[in-house]
Amino acid sequence: MGGEIIDGKKVAELVRQSVREDVEQWVKKGNRAPFLQVVLVGDDPASVVYTGTKTKACRDVGIDTNTLELQDTISAKELKGIITDLNNDDSVDGILVQMPLPSHLSQYDVIESIDHRKDVDGFHPMNVGRLSIDQPCFRSCTPAGVMELFKYYSIPVKSKHAVVVGASNIVGSPMAVMLSRENSTGKATTTICHKFTRDLTTHTIHADILVVAAGQPNLIKAEMVKEGVVVVDVGINRVADETSEKGYKLVGDVDFESVRKKASWITPVPGGVGPMTVAMLMKNTLLAAKKSIYP
Ligand code: NDP
Repeated sequence: MGGEIIDGKKVAELVRQSVREDVEQWVKKGNRAPFLQVVLVGDDPASVVYTGTKTKACRDVGIDTNTLELQDTISAKELKGIITDLNNDDSVDGILVQMPLPSHLSQYDVIESIDHRKDVDGFHPMNVGRLSIDQPCFRSCTPAGVMELFKYYSIPVKSKHAVVVGASNIVGSPMAVMLSRENSTGKATTTICHKFTRDLTTHTIHADILVVAAGQPNLIKAEMVKEGVVVVDVGINRVADETSEKGYKLVGDVDFESVRKKASWITPVPGGVGPMTVAMLMKNTLLAAKKSIYP
């Protein structure tokens, strides 16, 4: 047996249902439907799939959307010009520029050029900064989705020892900030680990809550965690699998079968954190349309 499954698919559908109802109410009151502008630069196959998933999810909850497809040769100046026009367009509530960008474009400059009030990804320095001082902001969707899972399953966070493995700007770092700083949902004592962390196990073994976002299949094994740990596996990795038609399967960063035996709760991959990311994007877009964060 082992740990109970944290069902991200189920919770994501509940979040989406709640957004769907709120959008309906919002429109009934005479407002136009929220609008998310997706910007896709180039034709990276994974990015095409991700933007497709997001726009499909938008339509499913009543959010209008379209994807602006731009050549991967576009200059930084041209791209910023387009973003400035979207910033100034009152019919656009949220702007999402799909990452990664072609190497000649700086993702930091592009993110910073988005109006922070339309930054539904929560990547703009204004939102990152406000998150770090526990002020209303657009919260990065993946870690916000993880916090939502803790809330749904009444998994206590306050005063626990949380360990986050991975320190990226979009997942690990904001995750650590939410777990440690957020007044209503966080207040865990939080350790953040990255590539330069010496002897990862000395940290993970003490975790009451372990969130792993390193992009390294099977990084976390049973001997690295203690009995009763809550494990959230953010990682999505493609590994070769001859038994599958596609020739690969998706796995997380955690050796699921062995770690589950010691865990009290654990997320599967797929079906754990992934669906929550998209659901939280829907929520952020609605908040942007209602001007709930930045009136
Ligand atoms: P990045 O590659 O940007 O960051 C990975 C982080 O993990 C870095 O901070 C890196 O350290 C750290 N790291 C890498 N190897 C180790 C190691 N052996 N020990 C400790 N730390 C390590 O990835 P992302 O944060 O964007 O994504 C992480 C994973 O989550 C990926 O598998 C990605 O596909 C998945 N993902 C899933 C999402 C979802 O919706 N479920 C959404 C976004 C991402 P350093 O900082 O020193 O380089």
